[in-house]
Amino acid sequence: MSAPALIRGYEVVIGLETHTQLSTASKIFSGASTTFGAEPNTQACAVDLALPGTLPVMNRGAVERAICFGLAVNAKVAPLSIFARKNYFYPDLPKGYQISQYETPVVQGGRIEFLLGDTKKVVRLTRAHLEEDAGKSLHEDFAGKTGIDLNRAGTPLLEIVSEPEMRSSAEAVEYARTLHALVVWLGICDGNMQEGSFRCDANVSVRKPGAPFGIRREIKNLNSFRFLQQAIDFEIQWQIDRVEDGLAIEQATVLFNADTGETRAMRSKEDAQDYRYFPDPDLPPLVIAPEWIERVKAAMPELPAAMATRFAQADGLPAYDAAMMTQSLPFARWYEALRDACEHGESGGAAAAWPKLAANWLMGEVSKKLNAESREIAAAPITPAALGALIRRVAEGAISHNGARQIFEALWSGETAEIDALIDAKGLRQMNDSSALEAIVDEVLARNEKSVAEYRAGKDKAFNALVGQVMKASQGKANPAQAGEILKRKLG
Ligand code: ADP
Ligand code: MG
Repeated sequence: MSAPALIRGYEVVIGLETHTQLSTASKIFSGASTTFGAEPNTQACAVDLALPGTLPVMNRGAVERAICFGLAVNAKVAPLSIFARKNYFYPDLPKGYQISQYETPVVQGGRIEFLLGDTKKVVRLTRAHLEEDAGKSLHEDFAGKTGIDLNRAGTPLLEIVSEPEMRSSAEAVEYARTLHALVVWLGICDGNMQEGSFRCDANVSVRKPGAPFGIRREIKNLNSFRFLQQAIDFEIQWQIDRVEDGLAIEQATVLFNADTGETRAMRSKEDAQDYRYFPDPDLPPLVIAPEWIERVKAAMPELPAAMATRFAQADGLPAYDAAMMTQSLPFARWYEALRDACEHGESGGAAAAWPKLAANWLMGEVSKKLNAESREIAAAPITPAALGALIRRVAEGAISHNGARQIFEALWSGETAEIDALIDAKGLRQMNDSSALEAIVDEVLARNEKSVAEYRAGKDKAFNALVGQVMKASQGKANPAQAGEILKRKLG
């Protein structure tokens, strides 16, 4: 492992706590709906409101999603875990405590792996535990008053805690992106960050290389990758400034202001003892039998890392390309369909490395379009079959890459004609008839004695001029590589 890059002579240490809302239809301890965006307080039942005499009942679906996550990150799924009460007072928490897990979480250990440039990074997980989300305080629409919406109260959360093993904001962002992609891939979270389905708390400290860990400050509730990066970068500079001024860092909980790009202390950090944790007497221990784990495992999709390894080994893709092809499950499925469409194209005949050509188009033209239009691959207005046919035409020399880009544009904007019809209609078909091309080359050689003489005298530029003449004489339809070969042969 190479030494981490220093910032102003300091090493940065980051650990993330990520709150992942689990995609169950109902809440973790009640039957109320979890759908986002309903009228305030229409999805809070007696249990969520903490009315006297109500009791929580564990939602199996939430446990199954936690098991699925544990398996996917190679963690231990605890055969027995305990729910605990975390006591604090806040208007959006009607019970006066949050049901969480403390000493014995359901998922223990595990790891997340990702590529940063060419370097593989492993971040170990401490744990992931089940808990309930709180309600929301709404400060906006009430003319100086605050409203409480308890629709979110009781939404199932899996809080995923990393070890303090990230050494830059870039690593933290890549970790968060990988984790986000994984929970969406597994289908255990909808991943909608604007709606708060995936929120990160970033713990940040700085130290001189080799020194013990510094005191951390925890930036709460970052709900975009950009904010995560900005908040950490600001916090690093703030802490270094302070240490350089000879001041101590105090452990604190801080908020990120997206308008100013600054972090600001909200409260000095409470420690575990302030929360007076104790086992929740209303809930029995969560017991997970090996058969339950087996059933969840059997229903899991192939994991992104395994699929990337398969694409690298079976398809010969470089590691970077394989990682890009597995950025989401729909993307990976699209790649497979495109690769197959190339390999099994109607005109037969083996060409170059189809998988690599398919990956290049997906990383290039297709991704460019998707990004520009903020679309997911599932909403691409082009089919793998059509793009596969186009890629084959390029490989067969029927059309240049530039020409193919024009056809791609046409397909993307809704043209439905056959690829070959499109190529002809746009006059983009390259000449494949070598006798016709030979005739053109003969004519060009006869008309350009000067260039021929220059070429024979050793001027490479003259050769390019001749290729240019052939392209011109063919009205751009000659295949430049083929034209070059014929020219070389005729020039001897
Ligand atoms: P708490 O639950 O009170 O927030 P934990 O000890 O469980 O505290 O740590 C929470 C997070 O803080 C973890 O992700 C951990 O990796 C990270 N962390 C712990 N110590 C440091 C440190 N010195 N610098 C940065 N992050 C840290
Ligand atoms: Mg914390």
